[in-house]
Order: sequence, then C-alpha cells, then structure tokens
Amino acid sequence: MPIHYPRAMLRAHRLHPMELWGPPHVERHEGSRHFQAYTCDIVVKAMSFIRSGGLGASKAILVPHTCDALQGMGSVLGDFLDPDQRVLTLYLPRGRRGSDHEFLQSELRRLATTLVEVSGYEPSRADWDEAFEAEDAADRALADLYQRRDRLAISDRDFYTVVRSREYLTAEQFCQQAAALPEGDPPERGVGLMISGIVAEPALFDQIEAMGAHIAGDDLACGFRRVYSVSAQADPFERAAYRLLTSPADPTCGTPIQARVETLEARMRALGARGLLIYDPKFCEPELFDVPLLRKHLGACGFPVLHVEFEMGDRLPHQTLSRIEAFVETLS
Ligand code: SF4
Repeated sequence: MPIHYPRAMLRAHRLHPMELWGPPHVERHEGSRHFQAYTCDIVVKAMSFIRSGGLGASKAILVPHTCDALQGMGSVLGDFLDPDQRVLTLYLPRGRRGSDHEFLQSELRRLATTLVEVSGYEPSRADWDEAFEAEDAADRALADLYQRRDRLAISDRDFYTVVRSREYLTAEQFCQQAAALPEGDPPERGVGLMISGIVAEPALFDQIEAMGAHIAGDDLACGFRRVYSVSAQADPFERAAYRLLTSPADPTCGTPIQARVETLEARMRALGARGLLIYDPKFCEPELFDVPLLRKHLGACGFPVLHVEFEMGDRLPHQTLSRIEAFVETLS
C-alpha cells in the first residue's frame, strides 16, 4: 500500500513489491463494509480487491502508516479479517529530527525480522549491497526523468505512465524504460499547471492536454514526492531510513506548511507553472488539512489554486473536468 516503504529491504529479502493505488476499476461495495463511509477510495477499493482474491499470488500485505485511513486498514486486516497473506505494518515518523531517524531505523529492523519469516530468507551483506545498488539506480533514473522532462518528446500521459511503472516493475526494468524514452521537443504544450495530490489516472493527462494545458511539474504522492535522495551508509537500516526521511515535501510525512509553500512556489516559478491544481481522492485528510493555507499563501504569491476531489473510477466525471477547464481558461 502507498506511499513510502523500503524497496531495497524488500529486494534484499527476495521480495518484489506490487503497489495498490485503488485500483480504480474495483467497486467500493465489499471494502466499504469494513470502514466508515468517509474513507477514501484508495483504502476502500484496495480492501475490495484484497477481499475478492486479487492478491492471490502475493505473500504479504505491507501497510505503511501513511495516514489514519491506512493505519485503520492495517488494523482491520491484521486484527479482524485474517487474510491469506501476512499483514505487515511500518510506522513512519512525522518529523526529520535525529530521534525520527533512530525511530525509523528500529521500525525497519522490526520489519526486517518479519520479512525473514515471510520470505524464509535471511539476506547476506552481498544481498543488501546488490539490493541498494539496483534500487538506488532506479531512484536515480526517476530523478533523472524529472530533470529531463523538457527534453523528452513524449506527452504527459506517456511521461506519467513511465513514472508510475515504478509501482510494479523491477528496478532494472524501470531503468530500461526510462532510458529508452525518446529525446526531443515535447509536443505542443499550452498553459503550464503544477498538479498536487495523491494520484492521477492517465486519462486526466489527456483531458488536460485537450483543454490547452500541460503539466509543468507535479507534487503527487505517486510522482515527485518519491524522488528520494540516495546515500551510502554502511548500515542498511540507517541507509534505508535516510532515503525515506529525505523525500521531498509531503503532507503525509508531516512537512510543515511553510516549507511546502516555499518549495511549491520555487518549483512553480522554475518550471513555468501558472497555477496549482490540487487533485485529491475524496476524504483524503492529510491533503485536506493543507489546502486552505496553500490557497492563501500561493494565492498571495500570484499563483491561483484549484482544489478538486474525485472518486476513483473508469471515467473522469464531467463536473470535475468542467471545473479544471474553467480554471485553465482563467490562466490562459
Ligand atoms: S488517499 Fe489520503 S487518506 Fe487515502 S490512503 Fe492516501 S493519504 Fe491516506
């Protein structure tokens, strides 16, 4: 489950993550039996998917403590529903102090003990080294994609298809895909938008392009918020904790609002974005807390903000698209 977790640690234990962000096409019905009505689609639809046997081939379900909704999901799965897969949790600190690093390292050690039980494999020093080398290369490839965005001859939809393939490909496959993208001028671009939020489905990018706009940059949990810094500490837990605690500004990690505003403002100016589109799944609490202050402070800097909430599904609702279109018109 989203958003932040230690990829190299899974690999060292010979496990491969497949991320569940919904999935959008799944009905809420089965999952909604286990949560309050005001729980987001990411959690409810994932629960429907799990309950319908969608995870048949997997050995464990890792639920990081991203928010109260995911913490609730971890509890419901682990304490009440007893799925075929082992349920694993990971408590992520909400600060970046020395004590947060120490806490996360001990959480990662606890998780590693459970991973040995799940996989039946205790990693050697060589396994850890190999895993960090491969996953760091993929992290660098993702960061490099963002650096090269203006020199890639691909649409926003194609760009985010590759960015999001990190959710299911191996590190090597991801690096190959990223390296194979054609260099050149991007297609005709229109008004630049910064998009913020948790996740955006591919069809949204086509619609935004048809409205005469493009994505100048993102602040998405499934995108730029996972451009991690890599390091070379000898201790694997220290190294894994460093990666997770140096991710970009992110409300689910407790980034103070002032830091978020400053980061967004600087990135929007550098990337040529004219306004901020906050595109959130309905009922996403960590995102909602920041919206009024982002609107106020970015508005004062000259950047209009539109906040839309959506329900995940096969189609984007007309009402949502009309609001985005009207916003783009005001920026043109
Ligand atoms: S959409 Fe928001 S509330 Fe739902 S799992 Fe993600 S961060 Fe948590």
